[in-house]
Amino acid sequence: MKSERGAKGNGCFLLSSRVKSHIIIIILPQTYSEARSREVKGKGEGKMARSITYITGSQLLSLRRQPNIAIVDVRDDERSYDGHISGSLHCASDTFSDNIPNLVHQLKGKDTLVFHCALSQVRGPSCARKLVNYLEESKEDAGIKNVMVLERGFNGWEASGRPVCRCNNVLCKEGGSA
Ligand SMILES: [Zn+2]
Repeated sequence: MKSERGAKGNGCFLLSSRVKSHIIIIILPQTYSEARSREVKGKGEGKMARSITYITGSQLLSLRRQPNIAIVDVRDDERSYDGHISGSLHCASDTFSDNIPNLVHQLKGKDTLVFHCALSQVRGPSCARKLVNYLEESKEDAGIKNVMVLERGFNGWEASGRPVCRCNNVLCKEGGSA
């Protein structure tokens, strides 16, 4: 009997504290929910590459020999007559979506991918986005952490006098890390 009375007492206490917390939430409803949604978004971003960043030609020049970096050339026919960045891998934009699983398999062990086309205005960024979307949807962890786009693309790279190769290999071994 004594405990029953105690429980009733607690019930009353809880009720009054709930009323108080309702008042607090009503005062700051938007700020509270905005802060929560930002927090959830931030947690997801830490897991794998979700945003695409840009890298300059000079930054890539100094990083490209590192074994964890792959340069992905998504130009179409231009690769065969304009040459390519030494050490780059060809994956043409017109068949890119179909080749993503193969590409991810080929890039095992690379955690940073640098995409480019001729100017890196359309094909380069859009293929980079397709890859990020694929990684988000696929359940397996491909180990890819950074997806980047080379500023000014192949044309900017060549115009700055940086190393260009004219071999016919899909994966160029000239000056690359492979
Ligand atoms: Zn080559």
